This record gives sequence, C-alpha cells and structure tokens, in this order.
Amino acid sequence: MKSGYSATVIFMSWYNEVEYIRTQAKKNNELFASSLPMIASENVLSPLCREMLITDFHGRYAEGTPGHRYYEGCDIFDKVEEKAIELAKKLFSCHYADVRPTAGTTANIAILKALIKPGETACALDLANGAHISFGKWGAAGVRGINLISYPFNDEEMNIDIDGAVKLIKKVKPKLALNGRSVFLFPSPIQELAEAAHNVGAYLVYDAAHVLGLIAGKQFQDPLREGADVMSGSTHKTLPGPQGGMIVSNHPGDTDEDRSFLKKLSFGVFPGVTSSYHLHHVAAKAIAYAEHLEFGKAYAKQTIQNAQHLAQELHSLGFQVFGEKLGFTKSHQILLAIGPGQGKQASKKIADCGIITNMNTIPGDEDPLNPSGLRLGTQELTRIGMKKSEMEDVALFYKRALIDNESPKKLKKDIKEFRKEYQTLHYCFKEGFRGYDYHTLVK
Ligand SMILES: *Cc1c(COP(=O)(O)O)cnc(C)c1O
Repeated sequence: MKSGYSATVIFMSWYNEVEYIRTQAKKNNELFASSLPMIASENVLSPLCREMLITDFHGRYAEGTPGHRYYEGCDIFDKVEEKAIELAKKLFSCHYADVRPTAGTTANIAILKALIKPGETACALDLANGAHISFGKWGAAGVRGINLISYPFNDEEMNIDIDGAVKLIKKVKPKLALNGRSVFLFPSPIQELAEAAHNVGAYLVYDAAHVLGLIAGKQFQDPLREGADVMSGSTHKTLPGPQGGMIVSNHPGDTDEDRSFLKKLSFGVFPGVTSSYHLHHVAAKAIAYAEHLEFGKAYAKQTIQNAQHLAQELHSLGFQVFGEKLGFTKSHQILLAIGPGQGKQASKKIADCGIITNMNTIPGDEDPLNPSGLRLGTQELTRIGMKKSEMEDVALFYKRALIDNESPKKLKKDIKEFRKEYQTLHYCFKEGFRGYDYHTLVK
C-alpha cells in the first residue's frame, strides 16, 4: 500500500438523508398545524387538489396548447387543460384564460414579454407603497429592461393618488399602466387608470396575485369589467389552489388586432417563459377553480369579514392599524405600524409564540430589510374554520405577545391548545380531511 493512502471503505447509506428530509417535513406539518399561520400570501391545499399532485401528470411534459403539442401522450392531459381553461373563464366571466404560468411572477414576466419592449416605459407603484418585486427594478420589470415610473401614493387612503396618476400617465405616455400590490387593503381606482391608459394607447395590466380569490368570489373589485386589459395572479393565495399562476383577459379576440393581442399573450407564456408547465399543478388548478366556483363566494366573504373584525379588535387593543378612516381593510390583509425599524423584531417575537406573519414596509420606509410594519392575512385562518369570534381570541394573542410581553413559551402552549379545534379544511369538497396530516400518506 502506498504511504498516505488509506483504503478504508466507509459504508454509508444516503437513506439517512432521506429520513432527515422526511423528518423536517413532518416537523413543518406539525408547526403549521399548531400555530396561527397568517402570512397573507399563503394557504392550504384541499385534499382533492392535493391528490392531483401525486398523479402521473407530475412526470409528464406538454408544450404548446391542447391539440397542438410537441410531445405524444398528451391526449388525456389535453382534456384536463381544456377543462381548466373552461372553469377559469367561468370563474372570471371572461373570454380568455391561460392556466400554464408556473407562478404569479412567471405570469407577469410573460405579460411584460408580450406587451412591452426593453427601454420602453411603464408606470407602477413603489415597493415601499406595497408593490411586488416583479414590477420593480430588481425583479421581472428590471429583467425586461423596462423604464419604470412611479405613481404618486396617498398614505392615508393607502391607495394610488388617482389625480396624480392620471396626470402622470398623460405626461409620460407609458406603454403599460401596471397595477400590482402585495399590500392590497383597498381596491385600486382601475376605471380612472384604465381610461387614462387607453387615452394614450397603453394597456392596463392588473396583477391580482393576492386578491385573485376575492375577485373570483365577487367580493373585491372586478378589474376586467372596470377596464383592465389583462389580469395575472397567483393560484395559491386567496385562491386556495396549487402554487402557480394564471392570466385572464376579457378581450374577445374578434378582430385581427385583438387576436394579435391575445396571441402575443399566449406566446409570452410559451415559448416565452415556460417549457414544461407542471401538469400536475394544472390538474390541481382545475379542481381549485371548481371548488372556488362552489365555495368561493362564501369563503371570500368570510375572509374579508374576519380581516375587518380582527383589524377593529387590534385597533381597540391599542395597535396602530392602517386605513382607519376607510374601515382598515376591504381585503384579507391588515397592515400594522409597529415602530420605526421594528418590524423584523416584532415578527420574530410573535413567531416564537406561534403566530406566523411577515415584516413589511409601510409608507415612508426606505430600508426593506428594516421595515416598520407587520402584514397579516386572514385567508388561512378562515379556511380552517375561524369566524368573527375567533378573531377576538387572535387579537388578544397579539396583545399578550407584543403589548403585555408575556412569555413566548406560555403563549405558544396556549396557541397550540386553541388551534386544536381548527384542524380541518373548509370551503372545499371532502371537508372533513385533517388538512395538515399529509405525512400519514407514507407510513
Ligand atoms: C405574490 C405576488 C406575486 C408573485 O407571485 P408568485 O406566485 O409568488 O410568483 C406577484 N405579484 C404580486 C402583487 C404579489 O403579491
């Protein structure tokens, strides 16, 4: 044997690593089953949607559109995608739906690819005023090389300053007027924005990511009827489907120009920004649309009522809640001002107690890493059966954690006890399912 060389054979199985990941997944299930999950962009998947994720669709490819494929073996999937499109059109009462985008961000990039060229101008909100990164300099809009100009914002009304925005659109004549909001308390003034945009030959793009399920449940605004040319969204926020995105439009495609508009949108998605588009997610989207057609109205209504009641309760307990004059919120969200630069610390503190939220910028914040607010959402608590009276319990947990500074250990125990009664999913078929018990699938 050569010196310095050891021929020891170490026998090790990588299965340990598999068990490690499985253990983490179980722990994560348990965490979310025993806490108050209140991140406004999240939700839990219904059992029937979940079933689609473990079907053979997962392993397959389909490029193109139903009936026009680059791969064989798509005939059955074609029926599923056609049904998903049909249900999406029904849900949003519109002429055109694309269920392929693999995320809300992907849907946005596809739209930007379709409707604007590098160097051209689009108007959008500032990140500090609640815009999403995909319409920001560091996100998709930046990737597309778009020149972004910000709308003026009204802090008190937590909304676009519409007079200022109309003047801006008239002056800069953008290619696109964008409306995308991750802090989305009140409906945007779409009618006025769309009119101003159309007067200068621009399209109005409504990114409904957060509020897609509220719109589909007819409890928010109706962007396609108010003048938006195209609407994108995530299929996993207030629309409680699989993680993914979609695009809808009410352009009828009845003239050459209109057909060309829709064709550009379709080309934006494929070949633009997808190849395989996660067929199991498309199947799960179809089921989520059907469930939302059945239960979406009641779900959206209860979600918003819960947000309004929780905001009122938090305000009464001494929290500074945005939008007071307008009733705090008309969506699933609540924005709290916690103190200058205190958002991160506050979100960590309540996470230790079992309340999962995120720090968020509020108007005036300049450093996104040290924001001054917390953003809350009621869509998941609503889905597991909570109503107005439970919002009073939830508000008290916030007070005990952030105002009374109670011990996180004690609070965590109390929250775990409180959560025991809310373990099944509502507003879906096969309601009784214990939504967080996924790990029982593999024994
Ligand atoms: C969440 C969000 C997105 C991105 O959606 P993903 O599905 O996470 O990619 C886009 N726009 C807005 C306004 C959002 O809030």
